[in-house]
Amino acid sequence: MLGVDVGGTRISAGLVTRDGQVLHALSRSSRAIDGDGVATLKQVIQDLLAHASTENVPVIGIGVGVPGAVNLSAGTVSADALNLPELSGVPLRDVLREAFGLPVVLDNDVNAFAVGEMLFGVAQGARTFVCLTLGTGVGGAIVINGQLFRGATGFAGEIGHATVQWDGRPCFCGSRGCLKAYVAGPDIVAQANELLFAVNSEQLAVSSERLAQDARRKTQDAFSDAADVFRAAQQGDAIAQEVIARVVRILGAGIGNLVNIFNPELIVLGGSVAQGLALRLDEVKQWAEDYALSEAFQAARIELSTFDKQAAFLGPAALFINHPPSIIDH
Ligand SMILES: [Zn+2]
Repeated sequence: MLGVDVGGTRISAGLVTRDGQVLHALSRSSRAIDGDGVATLKQVIQDLLAHASTENVPVIGIGVGVPGAVNLSAGTVSADALNLPELSGVPLRDVLREAFGLPVVLDNDVNAFAVGEMLFGVAQGARTFVCLTLGTGVGGAIVINGQLFRGATGFAGEIGHATVQWDGRPCFCGSRGCLKAYVAGPDIVAQANELLFAVNSEQLAVSSERLAQDARRKTQDAFSDAADVFRAAQQGDAIAQEVIARVVRILGAGIGNLVNIFNPELIVLGGSVAQGLALRLDEVKQWAEDYALSEAFQAARIELSTFDKQAAFLGPAALFINHPPSIIDH
């Protein structure tokens, strides 16, 4: 089958066998064709089908993961697809089914990621687990007894908007102190630059001489992205280290909440920020242990996803394998 991950900047797609073997993969800028996400998506699928046909590989269907909420019964992307506005409200499942004459399964990208981990990744064999993707945003997916838990109206799993500081940083959702407002990539950069600014403008009483010296050294050099903050922390930059220590602790607290609420056997951390924190995973676990109930914590493994960015289409492919045919057929 085909798996297609539609991201805000790239569409990654692959021809995948039932056991998760990748036969062919391609990736393209999300708006490569006419500046339009839907046209580009169709072209990517067309190219993969052409490849499958050349290789004599039969294709039984298409799994598609999109950023944002999906109305499963209608097969539409929600009206506020912030990353790719041209997808908003589009009946994408029917559009693709009619264009290619193949069954199509459409779901949110983090749900797809969770099913991918369950079929092909670190969650193989797990029945109750939670996935947390940490990147530009924070996504969550909850699997209970082998089934995605969607909640009463499909919004379950918005772990990024769990409150971890009741009077904390404002979040774009309108609330404050959300987990996302501390651990998402752009928020890590913002916190580092805010601390840098506060130290430099002496709004902050600097207790540590080291912090003050670091700030002076970096006066002309704001942090550019999360990878920059991780790198600076690794190289001993005191401001970056302070921010990363905060990120590690707050993420630990967030995970502690998940452990207490779901008693999962596994928590999978994915996304670029999770990879950036790979060397600090033991500290994240220690904080999670501090915040969680001890017996629930003992039952939970905390692991990094082993999917790399290039294989984002494995989740949507798994979605197709995992989906009940009754939903595929109408
Ligand atoms: Zn929020």
